Amino acid sequence: METIQYNLPQSRIPRAWYNVLADLPKPMAPTLHPGTLQPIGPDDLAPLFPMSLILQEVSTEREIEIPGPVRQVYAQWRPSPLFRARRLEKALDTPAKIYYKYEGASPAGSHKPNTAVAQAYYNKVEGTKRLSTETGAGQWGSSLAMACAFFGLECKVYMVRVSYDQKPYRRALMEAFGASVTASPSTETESGRAILAAHPNTNGSLGIAISEAVEVAAKDPDTKYALGSVLNHVLLHQTVIGQEALEQMALAGDEPDVIVGCTGGGSNFAGLVMPYVGRKIKGQCGARIVAVEPAACPSLTKGQFTYDFGDTGHLTPLVKMHTLGSTFIPPGIHAGGLRYHGMAPLVSHVMDLGLIEATSVQQLDAFAAGIQFARAEGIIPAPEANHAIAEAIHQALMAKEEGKERTILFVLSGHGHFDMQSYIAYQAGKLENYDYPAEEIAMALAGLPAVG
Ligand SMILES: *Cc1c(COP(=O)(O)O)cnc(C)c1O
Repeated sequence: METIQYNLPQSRIPRAWYNVLADLPKPMAPTLHPGTLQPIGPDDLAPLFPMSLILQEVSTEREIEIPGPVRQVYAQWRPSPLFRARRLEKALDTPAKIYYKYEGASPAGSHKPNTAVAQAYYNKVEGTKRLSTETGAGQWGSSLAMACAFFGLECKVYMVRVSYDQKPYRRALMEAFGASVTASPSTETESGRAILAAHPNTNGSLGIAISEAVEVAAKDPDTKYALGSVLNHVLLHQTVIGQEALEQMALAGDEPDVIVGCTGGGSNFAGLVMPYVGRKIKGQCGARIVAVEPAACPSLTKGQFTYDFGDTGHLTPLVKMHTLGSTFIPPGIHAGGLRYHGMAPLVSHVMDLGLIEATSVQQLDAFAAGIQFARAEGIIPAPEANHAIAEAIHQALMAKEEGKERTILFVLSGHGHFDMQSYIAYQAGKLENYDYPAEEIAMALAGLPAVG
């Protein structure tokens, strides 16, 4: 029988997260205070995050130990499976080998619990009572709601309006885990009210929902804020994905030539690729590493690498990242988790260093790839993950055209069981591609903060 699964025993769950900052040839640009434009210190972030996470945010230690209680929760779905997509390879009639690391086997259905569990744990240890957060498609909100239930924390979620309406089952899941969910922009916060006054019928965006969640945490000493992507500590927690993949690819006896992940804020991509980027820096890995983003929200391929706010209401510090401008509200594509105006500063930085590259995919091509994948492999992918699949298939077809062997590894960041409404719309021919929103992006970029 041909092998299609490369499984590791529970004892091989990584004991430490891998911090690529230890190996970077050039350090990242500092995070700046939005008022003084000076680098911020740990105390500036203390109203929002527990100190252990703030220290992880700036750590340059190579290995950061995973606490026992976090590893114990990981054991429910980790090590996650690595599959060889043999039926997809046959369907494509390609000489390429396609492997995928599947993160949809977690209880919430995506990679997000890898960091949600860690964040809830550190908050609990430091005495936080309540976490506030934003969610796009609902994947992050449901992961954090679950983690809060495990560690006895309250959870308040601002859910982007378009997803709140499109994805009622995700909302129900968050509420089942005990979270309180509000559509964003809401009238509960100053930032929400300001946006509603200017754009009464807005779809909302992650940037707006972040402002609301940050505002609530900043005003209440018992509430801290949790972010599901973008920040260094979040990307760090996701490196369990890539560390396991390295071992599993060794079990398969293969080295990837191309490594692919979809990018919204950059966390599932970074989780898979940063252990490989570390090897690339040391000359131990020659793979192409490709980030895939939606053509409607192309921060890496069309954005500027510059200082910007992380949120639309301008409450967050300034970070240097690829950005479309913090006031850009992306079109309502169904890959809600990819509708963010910026990209993780760490992902932006390694792209600037030439260690990774980026490409973009249109919504209809992403869904076509997801359907082809589902028919071959039996897993309905999350709409976000369809972007990675589209690029993996593209690479496999190029290998066929060139008559070359090629080993492709991608991360399947989640399943799409709660996203079937978007598949219904796709099958009914109701989804459309969005043109690159050049005018709106130009306007948002014109409003970038002036940093010398
Ligand atoms: C949130 C999400 C993404 C996008 O976020 P990243 O931080 O870029 O990983 C991608 N896929 C799934 C399934 C998600 O839930």
